Amino acid sequence: MEPLAHASIGLMVKPVAPKAPLWALIAATQVPDLLSFGFIALDIEKPGVSTMDFNQGLQTFSLPYYPFSHGCFMCIVWSLLVAGIAYLFLKDLKPSLVIGSMVFSHWVLDFLVYSTLPLLFGNRNLVGLGLMNTKPGVFISIFLELLLISTGLIIYFRARKRAALQEGQKQ
Ligand SMILES: [Zn+2]
Repeated sequence: MEPLAHASIGLMVKPVAPKAPLWALIAATQVPDLLSFGFIALDIEKPGVSTMDFNQGLQTFSLPYYPFSHGCFMCIVWSLLVAGIAYLFLKDLKPSLVIGSMVFSHWVLDFLVYSTLPLLFGNRNLVGLGLMNTKPGVFISIFLELLLISTGLIIYFRARKRAALQEGQKQ
């Protein structure tokens, strides 16, 4: 999914964990893609390649190889690691766990749109609902992304308004 769609999950959970800085929540949602850039640069992972097939008018993809940045198991590991790092700074378990869980939310959203997500290592057990693989699915994914982004913004700004009102009542 697009970075903005991932970031919207950070906006959505901010009211649940007010002590977690918004930038940390949003940054955590981008961790698998950031890791993937690094791993590709180091030649540890490989991006998928898409090509146009004019006979069928469909795109065919060569499989990406990204078990370390986008594998289910490793995303759980990165989530725990990010939660641990957050705890070092915040010294508060709940917001730290929420920040950590943002890393895994990336995997869940990618699971909806791709069908090439590794469970463990290697490219044997690839999972995902693969919405992007079909033409109607692409429209559904775009709709889903817009829905996520607008919902994230609405939840975030509503919570901010409520907090501002409460602040005003105190004075
Ligand atoms: Zn991703």
